[in-house]
Amino acid sequence: MPQPWSTPLEIDRLSRGAVALDFELPLAQLPRLRSRAELLGGSVRGTVRFGRDAGHALAEVSLEGTAELRCQRCMRPMALPLLARTQVALLASEAEANTVAAEIEPVLASDGRISLGELVEEEVLLSLPIVPMHAADAQCQPLEAAGSAGGQTTEAATQRPFAQLGELLSHK
Ligand SMILES: [Zn+2]
Repeated sequence: MPQPWSTPLEIDRLSRGAVALDFELPLAQLPRLRSRAELLGGSVRGTVRFGRDAGHALAEVSLEGTAELRCQRCMRPMALPLLARTQVALLASEAEANTVAAEIEPVLASDGRISLGELVEEEVLLSLPIVPMHAADAQCQPLEAAGSAGGQTTEAATQRPFAQLGELLSHK
């Protein structure tokens, strides 16, 4: 069954009418968030206020909620509070992006339609850490640290990205 937040909405009509729409949605149902393996669940709610300024359709996205993530150090769940308010410009083409003020985030909606889910998903993706981890404390220890050679494994894993970078540079 299609959810209200997944329905594509006509940007022109909403922005000219200065429409405000409330939403509440589970993060695990948003496709680009679901593809992030460390996302376990959570939900956000808030309001999208449409409007116009300087010839652009705008949307102000206000959201609050909680993302449940898997800590990448101890592999246990962690709750990340989400709180964001962002001005988004809804653009018909990429060429318009350089006409948007720096503090406004450009979002491409080339068919003139966007769903609340797409808008919210974009904001939540920007709010998530690249590598979610508990703030360091006694409860958050790498699982392998309990084993005999754990410390060394962790160190090797940490250094690997830099080794690969060095390889890339030397092949250029
Ligand atoms: Zn942890």
